Amino acid sequence: MKVIPKDNVIYAFSPGMKPVAHVHAGETVQFETLDALGGQIQDEADVMNLDFSKVNPATGPIYVEGTKEGQTLVVEILDINISSDRGVIVAEEGFGVLKNVVKGFKAKILPIRDGHVIFNDLSIPIRPMIGVIGVAPEREEFPTGTAHKHGGNMDTKEISIRSKIHLPIFQDGALFALGDVHAVMGDGEVCVSACEVPATVTVKIDIEDRTIEWPIVETEENVYVLVSLPKLEDALEEATRVAVKMISEARKLSFEEAYMLASLIVDVGVSQLVDPNLTAKAKIPKRYLV
Ligand code: CA
Repeated sequence: MKVIPKDNVIYAFSPGMKPVAHVHAGETVQFETLDALGGQIQDEADVMNLDFSKVNPATGPIYVEGTKEGQTLVVEILDINISSDRGVIVAEEGFGVLKNVVKGFKAKILPIRDGHVIFNDLSIPIRPMIGVIGVAPEREEFPTGTAHKHGGNMDTKEISIRSKIHLPIFQDGALFALGDVHAVMGDGEVCVSACEVPATVTVKIDIEDRTIEWPIVETEENVYVLVSLPKLEDALEEATRVAVKMISEARKLSFEEAYMLASLIVDVGVSQLVDPNLTAKAKIPKRYLV
């Protein structure tokens, strides 16, 4: 199995990224990832010296042989292994949902024991997920902290063990990278960060001969259309539009009928409210798409 070491990091997804390894469809690959703060906060006082140019590292990118623009990359998440006995969470003035209320810049170290994150006297079950996951975009470069059609910092808790993420391919070879694992996170990621941890992520890479507009996460029961845009209302509308289109095509329904059906079976929600582009998700139970 190929291993992509954690010193191969990018801070932006760009159309012309240089790959650090080449893989074939069907191959299993392991990515070693740094935490979203680049491992710079080991002590709660370290926030004072944080170098923001080393925030949101993603490991990669890898070139997937034989992939072309217009196809879809399918990445099955086989395992997410947290490689530390503690994580870190930060809250900063000017960031997060309550950006005008929070004061200063604070960090908290969170021990991780026996599958739980320890927050003071509380013990929270871990639910590891990948915050940043994506491919080379179509034209413009996106910092790894920003999500869009290529994926990126979608901070979606369903991007977890055993799920598959489908990403639109814009460049030959796809140029895939991932990072920013969270031990646990709630929808919204309200304070701007989660339990940020370094990890080893094992994935299986495949290709599909279909074109998608936005990333899609597939779990055992559901698919989630993930749309990331500067305004939440626009992201919710676009996620709904894509979900209705998928239902219309799968069930061979008119737009109006698919729209009505969506009103009965689709759950529209929020992945995160705190990154430069906000991520909405539209959940469709898979049984209605066959
Ligand atoms: Ca993130």
